[in-house]
Amino acid sequence: MKVNELTGHEVHDLLAKKEIRAIEVTEAVLGRIDGVEEKINAYVTVRREEALREAEEIDSKIQQGEMSSPMMGIPIAIKDNICTRGVKTTCSSKILYNFQPPYDATVVAKLRKVGAILIGKTNMDEFAMGSSTENSAFGTTHNPWNLSAVPGGSSGGSAAAVAAGETILALGSDTGGSIRQPAGFCGVVGMKPTYGLVSRYGLVAFASSLDQIGPITRDVRDTAILMNLICGHDPKDSTSLNVPVPDYTQALVNDIKGMKIGIPKEYFGEGIDLEVRRTIEKAIEVLKQLGANIKETSLPYTEYVVAIYYLIATAEASSNLARYDGVQYGYRTQGTNGKRQSAMVKMYEDSREECFGDEVKRRIMLGTYGLSAGYYDAYYLKAQKVRTLICDDFAQAFKDFHCLLTPTSPTPAFRIGEKIDDPLKMYLSDIFTISANLAGLPAISIPCGFTKEGLPVGMQLMAKPLDEEMLLMVAYTFEQNTDHHLKKPALM
Ligand code: GLN
Repeated sequence: MKVNELTGHEVHDLLAKKEIRAIEVTEAVLGRIDGVEEKINAYVTVRREEALREAEEIDSKIQQGEMSSPMMGIPIAIKDNICTRGVKTTCSSKILYNFQPPYDATVVAKLRKVGAILIGKTNMDEFAMGSSTENSAFGTTHNPWNLSAVPGGSSGGSAAAVAAGETILALGSDTGGSIRQPAGFCGVVGMKPTYGLVSRYGLVAFASSLDQIGPITRDVRDTAILMNLICGHDPKDSTSLNVPVPDYTQALVNDIKGMKIGIPKEYFGEGIDLEVRRTIEKAIEVLKQLGANIKETSLPYTEYVVAIYYLIATAEASSNLARYDGVQYGYRTQGTNGKRQSAMVKMYEDSREECFGDEVKRRIMLGTYGLSAGYYDAYYLKAQKVRTLICDDFAQAFKDFHCLLTPTSPTPAFRIGEKIDDPLKMYLSDIFTISANLAGLPAISIPCGFTKEGLPVGMQLMAKPLDEEMLLMVAYTFEQNTDHHLKKPALM
């Protein structure tokens, strides 16, 4: 197998045995980027020279006998809404086209400290708003399994880069499914941790009560390894949980006998693609064979999740995005007119008008409306109340089950352009991933099969807060007994 197609732990083993050098790994990844990036467009920025230089430094440390972390010398791609000191962080928005953060996000600082190689910043839907990576100011990312299909979103660049061999690992962010849905569409593993488990310091805010950073990888072991590094309390994030972080690799046990897994019936109703349904049913059979005790259950508030999410997420977004005024960051309008007194306000307005894409504007308007005097109680407040009921649904289900299993998305990757003019259709593609964010739960998507056309299908597992280990155990067991995660796109 080619070096750029290995998992992080495989690369680590070779580095530790000195059978390969970090520079060769980085070169292999950069070579692949040169070969396929024109077709995929997974990256906004590639740190070619810097990555090679850092790999050389790592090699000399390894030569001197230092191998202190499983992440040392491993190339990783970072979603472009995670701040990287001195490296452009655009959120795929024109308004931040030249923004170079003066600091690293906590996750990035942790990665740098252990010697991971930051290969580049990945493409995404503008400000993480979208499900297809079509809402990027820097062009659409293409799905490596079918170039005319979307990679999912908003972390589409990260998922496509992992699937196409353009990195070894990646980080994404997930507000309503943005790690899991693209991971599902691209046939890779993606995990959204419990809210508060990974620091959000340096993650450009979209909807602060929902946002989480998490891994996108080729197998479950790499997700566990990356979780070990990125989780943990951070005083710089006021919502960061102060809880001990276990060694997640300890959860990688190939045994789920007697495990109780619930299948929420609401996730198999109207709108689900037949092939997705059949693929998930087959995966359920595999888990049953492996000794899991699988039963149907119910999450009655599921029908409200899309409506609730798009009220809460847009409300938070409208206030978070108020800071982009043409003064503090990035782009400022060139034109000035009007009287001197109003020129400043006009400058704010023009900068925002010229730079935000349609979807971002739509969300700012929706969110502002939902929060406005007279509508606040009817929309935002009511949405918060229903959010509590959704949390209660899950608390009830977790009395009977160790975890819940659903499709990650109702359909496989759709075609580029298919939903872009119909926001409601686009929003519905998040229907299975949103609840985990509203309830703050950990959730993972793993590859569980393919459609006849050869598109990957993702299976989602959700567990109670801070039970990431349960998800990793079930996901690992499934993976060890199947081979879907080993297939590679032909990239035609
Ligand atoms: N697709 C969802 C949205 O558009 C989720 C995005 C995300 O998780 N960042 O809001």
